[in-house]
Amino acid sequence: MSVGISDWGGVPASWNRRHLLGIEGLSADEITLILEQAERFRAVLMRDKGYENNDRKIPLLAGKTCVNLFFENSTRTKTSFSLAARRLGMDVVDFSASTSSLSKGETFIDTVKNLEAMQVDAIVVRHSCPGTAMLLAENIRANVLNAGDGAHEHPTQALLDILTIRQRFGRIAGLTVALVGDIAHSRTARSNIWGLKTLGANVILCGPSTLVSRHWESLGVSVSYSLDKILDRVDVFNLLRIQFERQVIRPFPSTREYSHLYGMDAGRLSRTKSDVLIIAPGPINRGLEVTPDVADGQHSAILDQVTNGVAVRMAALWMCINEKK
Ligand code: ASP
Repeated sequence: MSVGISDWGGVPASWNRRHLLGIEGLSADEITLILEQAERFRAVLMRDKGYENNDRKIPLLAGKTCVNLFFENSTRTKTSFSLAARRLGMDVVDFSASTSSLSKGETFIDTVKNLEAMQVDAIVVRHSCPGTAMLLAENIRANVLNAGDGAHEHPTQALLDILTIRQRFGRIAGLTVALVGDIAHSRTARSNIWGLKTLGANVILCGPSTLVSRHWESLGVSVSYSLDKILDRVDVFNLLRIQFERQVIRPFPSTREYSHLYGMDAGRLSRTKSDVLIIAPGPINRGLEVTPDVADGQHSAILDQVTNGVAVRMAALWMCINEKK
């Protein structure tokens, strides 16, 4: 029997959030609900048998409109939010900040209120200012999904990372996950820490002391300044990009030195667990945080993460808009 829109079911009764602003504050049950819905949407995307039409679409949100409001560059997040909305049958509008009336002096909130007056249902926002998504949610009626606010949070990135880990290991609790690199400026790191800790993983932050402060330990994570020392006790390495665009001062003398000390290469990989998983939020800088052979090798799930990104964003849109059919 095929499963289609009529027997998809409603948003789980225990989900009652209109916005996805961050992972901080979500319960383990809420995170798990999103992951479970994302698995179902992934099956539609992958044309797994059992789904009607077999066209990678399930128009649960037909007639609704989503605006992509990106004030920072994006490849994966913007494209996959657009695709996710379209797979759910939504109309999608891409807002171009640089050619808008913002450059004529209109305030951010006025711009968004004008967009909302056009009767949009959801706004996906990325901005360099921490708190932008929260500000929007407090000022407009539409559902707000945070696609990255400065170095603060990137909730859908963490959810897709966690989904990828869960697919590989079947669990999160008890795993040791190392976030390696520019913790100080990474919104991916923050969202991952909240999500992984809430689901019971052990989290190690690893990088140079200029990018990983001991203050992070107050969040219940451990800190290591040596990648070599933790290689054999980690299940998942999440290799974070050096966020040059957010750094005010250079945090290390040279990128060559950084990759020598913190880059994941074949030599280091050979000293990890045999079933180690390598993930990275992208964009990856080949040769800096990870060498090409490792990025493209059998332990890497970097492209699975991208597939999961569409599924997670479908789940987040559907659950926040909370349209029960
Ligand atoms: N794409 C992720 C972000 O927007 C990670 C990165 O840019 O390094 O935060």
